[in-house]
Amino acid sequence: MEFKRTPHPALTHENVRKAAIADPGFGTVFTDHMVTIDYDEAKGGWHNAHIGPRGPIALDPAASVLHYAQGIFEGMKAFTHADGGLALFRPEENARRFNASARRMAMPEIPEELFLDAVKLAVETDADWMPPVDGGSLYIRPFMFASEAFLGVRPATQYKFVVILVSSGNYFKGGVNPVKIWVSTDYVRAAKGGTGAAKTGGNYAASLVPQAEAIAQNCDQVVFLDAVEKKWIEELGGMNLFFVRKDGSVITPPLTGTILPGITRASLIAMLREEGLEVREEPYSIQQWREEAENGELLETLACGTAAVVTPVGTVASADGEFTIGSGGIGQMANKMRERLVGVQNGTIEDKHGWVMRV
Ligand SMILES: *Cc1c(COP(=O)(O)O)cnc(C)c1O
Repeated sequence: MEFKRTPHPALTHENVRKAAIADPGFGTVFTDHMVTIDYDEAKGGWHNAHIGPRGPIALDPAASVLHYAQGIFEGMKAFTHADGGLALFRPEENARRFNASARRMAMPEIPEELFLDAVKLAVETDADWMPPVDGGSLYIRPFMFASEAFLGVRPATQYKFVVILVSSGNYFKGGVNPVKIWVSTDYVRAAKGGTGAAKTGGNYAASLVPQAEAIAQNCDQVVFLDAVEKKWIEELGGMNLFFVRKDGSVITPPLTGTILPGITRASLIAMLREEGLEVREEPYSIQQWREEAENGELLETLACGTAAVVTPVGTVASADGEFTIGSGGIGQMANKMRERLVGVQNGTIEDKHGWVMRV
């Protein structure tokens, strides 16, 4: 599909852009352009692919995403390599997961190639928003929502797919900090048969109150338990977990439909196995977590996702009190895995798996 291009009437002035990307933090330094593609069942599906100035999107007040939350998104990053070229990390996995989310939310799938073309076009167009800082990236946010105006409850027939970018600084500026996490027992994130495996806004909306509870408990993040027994560890609000044990095994909760299948998670499973560790996808209980942390069987707990890559969990707090993982600091495996993953993404470590796609 050809992308029509509307020239930007007034690009951000170079000085303003350079000041903004010198220390962009995360989530607020948006680039100049966006990609949009429309979907209409009556027009044969996807059409009207476009790149133009980033700006507000006009929506009918009855647009069904505003009422029934038919919407999905992805989160990925572009990196600069030493030769100045741009690279994406496993973007076809994001395209695939986007369509898996679409199926769960009764939304149309987008051809993987079109998804990738849209992402690449957005990144190429706004490449000069790449922050010139160590560990910086362009964070890419593809998303899709139901735009049809109607108040009946059924899947919409009209959608919009959009790609926006944010200039993103080093998540670990000032060093890696182990996170303290709060075990939520009053709230759950997802139940079997629900939408936990889809990257959809409702899961995040549901996590905000428990996340606020975590903050009130002086914690950084909330960890969710399974909805039935309130016993098994699932994941953080936006990161998957790994339990690294002294006997050389690593446990990560299995994908049973309530956990988001992280691409960082899948990459870590492969990398840990290459280290000779035995990675098992099996349930791990909150009781086991506490016992193994206390008796020394558990060496580290790693949280992983695109934004923070690999972050050590230092302390776990719950209504029953706190426990510490290892020394409560940064473990060896957390460091090793983060450095290796970041190295592959940045092109400084050999990409044995073909995970990096040059733009
Ligand atoms: C996106 C996300 C993750 C991490 O997925 P990555 O592909 O590794 O970025 C984990 N949990 C939830 C709930 C998420 O939305």
